[in-house]
Amino acid sequence: MPKRCEDPLLVEAPSSRSKCVCCGGAIVLGSTRVGVSARHNGLSVTRWVHPPCFSRFCMRVDYAPTDRAHCQGDGSPIRKGEPRLVVFLESAVSGKTKHQRAYKPPNAAPFLRDLLELPGVDVRPDIIAGLDALDTPEHRAWVVAALSGLPLGGAPAPVRAAPPPPAVAAASGDTLFFDGCKIRVMWPQRRKGRARLRTGVLSLRSGGDGGGVRGPKYWLHTERERGGVRERRTTWGGLRERWYEVLSSPREAPHRWSAAEVAAARERLASGESAESVGRGLGRSALAVEGKARAAGKKAKREELEEVGGEGGGGSAGPSQSQQVGPALAADSDSESCEVID
Ligand SMILES: [Zn+2]
Repeated sequence: MPKRCEDPLLVEAPSSRSKCVCCGGAIVLGSTRVGVSARHNGLSVTRWVHPPCFSRFCMRVDYAPTDRAHCQGDGSPIRKGEPRLVVFLESAVSGKTKHQRAYKPPNAAPFLRDLLELPGVDVRPDIIAGLDALDTPEHRAWVVAALSGLPLGGAPAPVRAAPPPPAVAAASGDTLFFDGCKIRVMWPQRRKGRARLRTGVLSLRSGGDGGGVRGPKYWLHTERERGGVRERRTTWGGLRERWYEVLSSPREAPHRWSAAEVAAARERLASGESAESVGRGLGRSALAVEGKARAAGKKAKREELEEVGGEGGGGSAGPSQSQQVGPALAADSDSESCEVID
């Protein structure tokens, strides 16, 4: 059995002053709390969570999207496509993932064994979040055995078969890479004069030019409470006027960024989408998205300056162009972007 790692911690609360980051409730004196180390304003801090909240909201199983991460338990590299246990904290206010670390399932077993003995913890390795989404029954069985601390007989971690290469987005008209993404979006209900959060899967609408001023067109597929799927039309122009975030996507990033992906990341960040959300959509990390967008922005600026210099100071071309595009977008934005097709 691997050594119990330091993080997450299970310790007794020495007072009743700490609060659970998941539910906001107090953690009472003497009860066991889960501590997750996090960064805040450049400092290392420990965030505390009730064990039941932690087991329900702070763990999931998935496949490593890259081979750059290391196991927090023993420091060994996690290969791309290997199943891993992800521990994360989510902001109760914004719903954004704040801190995330990955573990090889066998290395998380000692922590899980201690956690699952605590009162109120009703999650077990065989029902942990994300398990159902693994590709094969063999992968699921391996993860459950590893998280349960069962001997694996030296069997190496399975690795997910390479997925088919992502569709060439630009050619299909999905220049923003939303096709197949699950999103949470604040959707206006015009007649009732309010908006409500909807969760659904976006798919590219075929037919038409697929583009234009309002960008690619999509369907949002949401599940009805009484069963079945409801489709709602939207466009990039409609989407970016609302709060939304990508929850998951079928995309696993190829090693290199394509020019289309960089352009999509920049446009989506500029619309106010968080880097975490853009990263989930593109199958990349938030840091990679931010870094790439910043580098591309600098390059564009440099090229613009060089161009202006070469033309002997004709620098008004850029601004006047954006002034033309702006009003055109605004004028169009009130049309039937949120029409409901039943
Ligand atoms: Zn809690």
